[in-house]
Amino acid sequence: MKKLFALLLTLAMVLSLAACGSKEEPAKTEEPAKTEEPAAESELTTATKGCLTMATNAQFPPYEYYEGDSIVGIDAEIAGAIAEKLGLELVIEDMEFDSIIEAVKTGKADIGLAGMTVTPERQESVDFTETYATGVQVIIVTEDSAITSVDDLFAEGASNVIGVQRNTTGDLYTTWDLEDAGLATIDRYSKGADAVQALKTGKVDCVVIDNEPAKAFVAEVEGLKILETEYVLEDYAGAMSKDNTALYEAVNAALQELIADGTVKTIIDSYISAQ
Ligand code: GLN
Repeated sequence: MKKLFALLLTLAMVLSLAACGSKEEPAKTEEPAKTEEPAAESELTTATKGCLTMATNAQFPPYEYYEGDSIVGIDAEIAGAIAEKLGLELVIEDMEFDSIIEAVKTGKADIGLAGMTVTPERQESVDFTETYATGVQVIIVTEDSAITSVDDLFAEGASNVIGVQRNTTGDLYTTWDLEDAGLATIDRYSKGADAVQALKTGKVDCVVIDNEPAKAFVAEVEGLKILETEYVLEDYAGAMSKDNTALYEAVNAALQELIADGTVKTIIDSYISAQ
């Protein structure tokens, strides 16, 4: 099932490159494609005509990661399903996590889908779609670590070095809760996997990151474990511009339908086995 999705997605992305790949050459190359376009042409205004451009950071398995040259994962498939409903072709743009909101705000991308947590601060810059998944900030430690629970990070006199992915909620919460309180130093990495490597080599004492990528990273590095206690529970949603209400409403309605008819759950279950 997962393989098939991935294959279809790759195919869709390859096809979409023909129509959506080049932003500099709009009308000319798109015209011949019209005859083979079955769905009614979308009247939605998007970053590139006829395309749904998704901004992401493909370092976040199983939500978005590379399989060969293609970006696959839960978010990529949900975006593909939304695009299909709207008669648009999906284009995925990989960037640093902390560039996604800016790309959406400035209209370079139509939606940020990146296992992105809804926070009041981000809501000042973008509108979030319906929530489609939940995440948990967890703590990764070495198997012999003195840190055994979230409480240990808050203990009087604590002075841990904590690895995080820059500008993620793991970074924001540990900065506010721990660094600002003089209880920790935060070491910020552009990839979660790099923070996990820093833990392995002893540069940091623990990593605070979302639970699903945490599982994927720990599975690949010997001698690490995820603590049972959870730091923060959060909701994932798509980030969209506040200035394109028609697109927001269309995307959100499509997403709501995909949640209601079980498509989103099927996609999530194909990547995350229930334990
Ligand atoms: N959920 C976290 C956040 O929104 C991390 C997302 C990510 O690293 N892709 O900040």
